[in-house]
Amino acid sequence: MRTQGSMKIKEETAEEPVGADKAGNCRRPVIDPVIELTPGSTARPLAGLSGKVEGFLVSHRARFGYVHAFMAVVFLALVAIPVFFPFPADDDTALTNLQLLARFIVWGLWFPLMFLSVVLFGRLWCGLLCPQGALTEFMSKRGLNRPIPGWMRWKGLPFASFVFITVLGQLVGVRDYSLAALEVLGGTMLLAALTGFIYTKDRRAWCRHLCPAGPLLGIFSRLGSAGIDKNGGTGTSAACPTFINTQTKTASSNCIACMRCVNPASESTLRLKLRRPGREIEEIGKREPDIWEVLFLLGATGLALGAFYWTESDMYTLYRDFLGNAFIDLGYGSLIGQSGPWWVMVNYPWAGETFNWLDFISIATFMLGTMVAVMGALLILLISSALIPKEKLEYWKRAASAGYAYAPVALVSLVLGLGIMLFEPLGSFGKLLPAALFAAGAIWSVYLAVKIQGPRPGVLPNMLGIGLVAWLWYSVLF
Ligand code: SF4
Ligand code: SF4
Repeated sequence: MRTQGSMKIKEETAEEPVGADKAGNCRRPVIDPVIELTPGSTARPLAGLSGKVEGFLVSHRARFGYVHAFMAVVFLALVAIPVFFPFPADDDTALTNLQLLARFIVWGLWFPLMFLSVVLFGRLWCGLLCPQGALTEFMSKRGLNRPIPGWMRWKGLPFASFVFITVLGQLVGVRDYSLAALEVLGGTMLLAALTGFIYTKDRRAWCRHLCPAGPLLGIFSRLGSAGIDKNGGTGTSAACPTFINTQTKTASSNCIACMRCVNPASESTLRLKLRRPGREIEEIGKREPDIWEVLFLLGATGLALGAFYWTESDMYTLYRDFLGNAFIDLGYGSLIGQSGPWWVMVNYPWAGETFNWLDFISIATFMLGTMVAVMGALLILLISSALIPKEKLEYWKRAASAGYAYAPVALVSLVLGLGIMLFEPLGSFGKLLPAALFAAGAIWSVYLAVKIQGPRPGVLPNMLGIGLVAWLWYSVLF
């Protein structure tokens, strides 16, 4: 233990030597600096707002556990308690019915604000507030400490997890029925806990490799005005819970801002830095562009659009009729007319809503089809865009870099789509505000595309793609 001023820095030598995988992600730390700061420490003057926030977070890091526990209790209460309360009547509101209140908090506030928060605070939500992340880390301290298997390291796994959860959520009516919310949200909590218990120690294998929301938060955090970055020194190895090599880190995407690698007493560790929103994406070529992140962004955009389109558009009704006739012609009419259990599809006869296997197949394939179509169209435009280079980057890095320009319009659309019920009570202002936010997101995307690719012909296909995403979202949101 060495002491600097009122700050005590304990350096723990890990049992195993440092090792980074091919992606440069650290698996075993050499040094895990555990910093114990007394609140208000003046060991080293911290400059500006970022210094103040950093000092506050580092000095209170030991208390993060209380915040985690509080958030876990609130979240579990929100998903479990409404199950025991009556289903809302037509004239009920969030003030008169607990199920509606919980629905408003989870879908109107919790998730939209979680996504929106990254623009201001990076992934501080993950490091400080997320109950799932906290639970998986808590369980990993007490678990089996097994190594992460190869299949879990596949970079497409978080996307597969996102697709599965989103489609399941639509099929069981996660936004409308408390039992379905308990199944999907409680189920992912359970899986996060299990993953933490089985794999690694003191880390978050779930957050890095399986969380369906993590990669989206990671991509959007690159837009954020706060990031954990090097301070010009060499960087110190730290036991990063999401397996980032803190000595080479230049990207925000996997960083959950847990502050574990931040030491205000040392020049060489990482520091919390405030920056212009979108700055990391403007210089994405130097910030570890990753084609998997972009594929996730495009796929998630397509799937989210599919989720809105099947409830809103006539195209879905036509598609369902077409499939129904085809199944009847094939002799499966009686089979597809039957319903399945509530945990597979909506089945609440007392609420007047029941899906059958035709609904199940139609919704799932319609959503997946929309995802493939949108993703394919955007990918073609992106690939064309990358054919005309601005920088001497490898081709896929160029394509990946250009793809990050979609982030603002995708983020705003997702937040508006999730939180549309938030604007309903605001009357005409409630229509104006989403429209203004939407326009701002689209303009920001166009600005980023020009910044990334320069004002040259290569940017045009990408602009077309941004226009396509904006138009598709506009048609479901307004
Ligand atoms: S990655 Fe997912 S589970 Fe982990 S902290 Fe973030 S939102 Fe929560
Ligand atoms: S703050 Fe540091 S230790 Fe924590 S997730 Fe980010 S890089 Fe890893």
